[in-house]
Amino acid sequence: MMMLSNIMNENIKEFDEYDFLYFGNRTYTNIEVDRLSTIFSNYLLSEVENSGDKVIVYLANCPEVIISYQAILKAGKVVVPVMYALNAKEIQYIIEDSNVNTIITSNALLENIVKVAEKTGKKLNVIVTDNIENDAAEGSVNIHELEKIYNHSKSQNREELNISEDDLAVILYTSGTTGQPKGVMLTHRNLYISAQSAARLMKAEMWKKPTLVALPLAHSFGFTAMNTYLFLGSSVVIIERFNADEIFKAVEKHKIRTFTAVPAMIYGMVMNPNIDSYDLSSLEGVLSSSAPLPLALMEAFTKKTGTEVWQGYGLSEASPVVSTQWRGATIKPGSVGLPIDIVRVKIINDEGEELPRNEVGELAVKGLNVTPGYYQLEEETAKTIVDGWLRTGDLARIDEDGDIFIVDRKKDIIIRGGLNIFPRDSEEIIMTHPDVLEVAVIGVPDEEMGERVVAYVVKRPESVITELNVISHSQEHLAKYKTPQEVVFVDQLPRNGVGKILKRKISELYQNKVM
Ligand code: ATP
Repeated sequence: MMMLSNIMNENIKEFDEYDFLYFGNRTYTNIEVDRLSTIFSNYLLSEVENSGDKVIVYLANCPEVIISYQAILKAGKVVVPVMYALNAKEIQYIIEDSNVNTIITSNALLENIVKVAEKTGKKLNVIVTDNIENDAAEGSVNIHELEKIYNHSKSQNREELNISEDDLAVILYTSGTTGQPKGVMLTHRNLYISAQSAARLMKAEMWKKPTLVALPLAHSFGFTAMNTYLFLGSSVVIIERFNADEIFKAVEKHKIRTFTAVPAMIYGMVMNPNIDSYDLSSLEGVLSSSAPLPLALMEAFTKKTGTEVWQGYGLSEASPVVSTQWRGATIKPGSVGLPIDIVRVKIINDEGEELPRNEVGELAVKGLNVTPGYYQLEEETAKTIVDGWLRTGDLARIDEDGDIFIVDRKKDIIIRGGLNIFPRDSEEIIMTHPDVLEVAVIGVPDEEMGERVVAYVVKRPESVITELNVISHSQEHLAKYKTPQEVVFVDQLPRNGVGKILKRKISELYQNKVM
């Protein structure tokens, strides 16, 4: 049997001691992270009463996130990562849904937890990682101070705790772009298989090489990227939260060849006025995933940096990687690449029948990376995983070479006069207008035609572009029924913690506007 499970705390020791994490002016080797997490794990097991079987980690990116994840897994508990961008109401939902009573957080975020405790009357064990004494949080702890108190030789070993590959390792809450967040359960095997496969693909470029992570470590993409770096022995510059200058500085200083990003980060980098002043010549490619990447944005980034953008696709339910483009592959614009080696994919119709190549239908995925289901949502699980195939809710086509092209989210399709409109088709065209910075197209109710097409546009600050300009630009390049009937100019689009555009929120904005 393979040595599996506890990827975070098994793989960290695969390599001799090396600089694993850089954060500001702090550096941690893999061995230090391993030691600190063992100590913290002992603390969780012996000092925190009623710590429960799951622990929330609610922190902005920092080494303590990684140390906490490892410690929780070592203690035989389940990690529930929560993005720092979530507010008290959102975190309350997760605390109640997951029934967690132990939370690791920081002083900066403590206020939100205190609010939840007051509101729910729930007795929470709050562990603040960045100081020892804090009135608001009984049991505040500085992980680094623990070393003086807890001897790491007390460490529990895995066999004692009896953790197996099929045990739950993490519950990842989806960001809820289409509804309430759902807790995706992932086992040790899911995580291990996924990171190992990604590492196989990236080995030539990333083996023992420096990289950076600015994606939230609590989101599936950031979480798995980090796991993958453990397999690769990469040194990782941790960036607290997205900041283009910090990224450029890290690339320049550590001669980084590649890193992972989301389209909102690519946009932020392109728009950064200092971009030309950095030496980014070490960069060979940036992997973008998590949300659609408009072609115009991809081209703008390549033009500015001389660097390729590779696209990947995944979802929390698949731990999350499903497919990716990577160096050396034929990069087909708009494609999210080939499935990774542990994954099978097919395109199905509403009856679940497989469709031929190049036909658009729902993308279904099978593999050892697929979740056993949603936490306490059996009906939802049965609808989503049918005969072992995960129904992604994404419409896609697979071409003759096996490359996947994501067309749109099934839920976002607009039906106008009986015709299907994929908002992304219209968005791609509107984005090619030189005065448009960002766009989101939604469907709104229409008495006559069922739905009408509305484009929310962020224009260049100095531009005088009008609604009519956007509509006529669309009409030039799109079938008439796909062009927007209405354009709303806004300063920014609502986004979630990983920078995904929240179409549900835009629909609400529209409703409030017309009411
Ligand atoms: P929820 O499922 O609650 O709405 P979420 O969409 O944020 O939340 P995630 O698992 O974070 O959940 O995101 C997965 C989704 O992101 C995919 O189903 C797909 O719609 C979208 N996505 C991921 N990568 C890409 C990509 N390269 N191109 C287009 N869409 C993508």
